[in-house]
Amino acid sequence: MPTLSEKKLKSYSYLGGIHIHSTFSDGSGDIEKISLAAKSAGLDWIIITDHNSMDIQEGFYNGILAIKGEEISPEKSNHYLALGIEKNITAPDPSSYIEEVRSQQGFGFAAHPDESETRQNPYVPIRWTDKNILPDGVEIWNWFSEWADNFSSKNIFSKAYAYLFKHNLVKGANPQTINWWDKLNNINNNIIPAIGGIDAHALKIPGYILPVTVFPYKSMFKTITNVITLKEPLSGDFQTAKSQILNAIKSGNNFVINRKVSKNIPVFKIKNKTGEAHSGESIELDNNTILTVKAAPKCSIKVFHNGEEIMHNISDKLKIILDRAGKYRVEIKIGNKGFAYSNPVLVY
Ligand SMILES: [Zn+2]
Ligand SMILES: [Zn+2]
Repeated sequence: MPTLSEKKLKSYSYLGGIHIHSTFSDGSGDIEKISLAAKSAGLDWIIITDHNSMDIQEGFYNGILAIKGEEISPEKSNHYLALGIEKNITAPDPSSYIEEVRSQQGFGFAAHPDESETRQNPYVPIRWTDKNILPDGVEIWNWFSEWADNFSSKNIFSKAYAYLFKHNLVKGANPQTINWWDKLNNINNNIIPAIGGIDAHALKIPGYILPVTVFPYKSMFKTITNVITLKEPLSGDFQTAKSQILNAIKSGNNFVINRKVSKNIPVFKIKNKTGEAHSGESIELDNNTILTVKAAPKCSIKVFHNGEEIMHNISDKLKIILDRAGKYRVEIKIGNKGFAYSNPVLVY
């Protein structure tokens, strides 16, 4: 059971990027280049998940905590972001690699599970094909996947628009995926965590004179970000810092935001007489249990209870007195753009 934050305990926020490819698979940068980009984009930590590879050397680079995972990547479907593992995963199909990851004391997230099958471009969709196979967590938002879903290579204009105004194609977490994630969370009281992924490759494509880097790491690292709140500052010791971040992700102590939409870091908490709980934590229902959200001005704030929308406000904040148990989470939009998605808080 996740622990309850103690009253008035100090907390520390750290920004991180998840789902990054390096030269050990189909990315164009090495750890040095990737960590420098992360630093100049204002991140504190990154998780590099190469396709079927754990060869990258993790550690602190340029002040950035760089952790390695693996994107288990069968050719046509069921990509799985495995974190907290030491050895390459060899099992061939989803049920068996989910188990193999757990047997290494790791955990994983179904990656870009609902890519569009009707894409009008050469990026072949890779989906989670059997929704009855239950992952440990879900990547509810993937920058590159959404861009590719919305990219049409029909003509030169649609292509130019997609590259020049790339951020316009990324509008929010995939509703189908959110729906599945809610269902997984309704199975029992365990919190099924969500992450936001970038799927950064910084691919190089032939240009007129020199190769052009499409979606450089630095600009990608300023988009979908996981904000983790810790009770203690991040350690300077690599192994300790790595466990701090991985334990937080496993518990769902992260808020998924797109910093391209707003740089504001939203607050979501549920308070009772004894203390308060944040994303991924749990708290007992009493006669004065209050849910609070604080965000940027003029946001559209939605609160969900067990996957059902129970309140929608256009404001910079919101407060509800809760009268029933269940899982509560929030989604925040700014204009027509998805901005922030919390993990659930369990009220019992
Ligand atoms: Zn993938
Ligand atoms: Zn990927």
